[in-house]
Amino acid sequence: MRLTIGWLYGTKMNIYGDRGNIIALERRSRWRGIEAETREIGIGDPIPETIDLFFFGGGQDQEQEAIARDLQGAKGAAIRRAVEDGAAALTVCGGYQLFGHEYRPHGGPALPGIGVFDLVTEAGPERFIGNVVVETAFGDLVGFENHSGLTWLGAGASPLGRVRVGRGNNGTDGTEGAIWRNAIGCYLHGSLLPKNPNLADWLLARALERRHGTVALPPLDDRYEVAAHASARDRAVRTR
Ligand code: GLN
Repeated sequence: MRLTIGWLYGTKMNIYGDRGNIIALERRSRWRGIEAETREIGIGDPIPETIDLFFFGGGQDQEQEAIARDLQGAKGAAIRRAVEDGAAALTVCGGYQLFGHEYRPHGGPALPGIGVFDLVTEAGPERFIGNVVVETAFGDLVGFENHSGLTWLGAGASPLGRVRVGRGNNGTDGTEGAIWRNAIGCYLHGSLLPKNPNLADWLLARALERRHGTVALPPLDDRYEVAAHASARDRAVRTR
């Protein structure tokens, strides 16, 4: 079995350890004998038909501006089609924001998103920085947030979960992230997947099912991942 990961703008959108998500997806595939290949998709590159799972990390406003332009038209439409067809996706912070309808940064024109998620984001007066714990269908997810963007979900978007510690989408409505079909958006840097193996495996299973039918991933020895999760959760609760 083979998995192809499409790493969107990896050289530009890769802050706060987000590349660790690629490493976790590759390793958790290979440890199960699944061939995993990561293809970086940069500015001007087309979207290969073979992508099973997209990863789109975080970045600064100025990086988002050039990338928003690059995503308009056929490229964003190709990603949207793939997600509608069952491709999996994990988008974090700046990547998450550009998977919505638009991101309005401080003092600049609104950046168009690709509309995978029914949401909009606007830069707020305060920067949300700190540990986050989110109650989700995958269990508690732990991560680290650093964003000024305030994300508001539309009627067509479901939140990834409810904030237990931290600020989440906007620090007001108690939501964090968004989920649509097999695509997930969130503000959880850190990197997210090494400390949240349940979510990593959910993404892998959905990504593989699109071409291979129902997939039962054999369990891994996650003692270190579970310990890292517990440590991050306890630290977040202790220092809230
Ligand atoms: N520039 C966006 C914000 O501050 C995204 C930042 C990020 O990706 N960490 O909200």
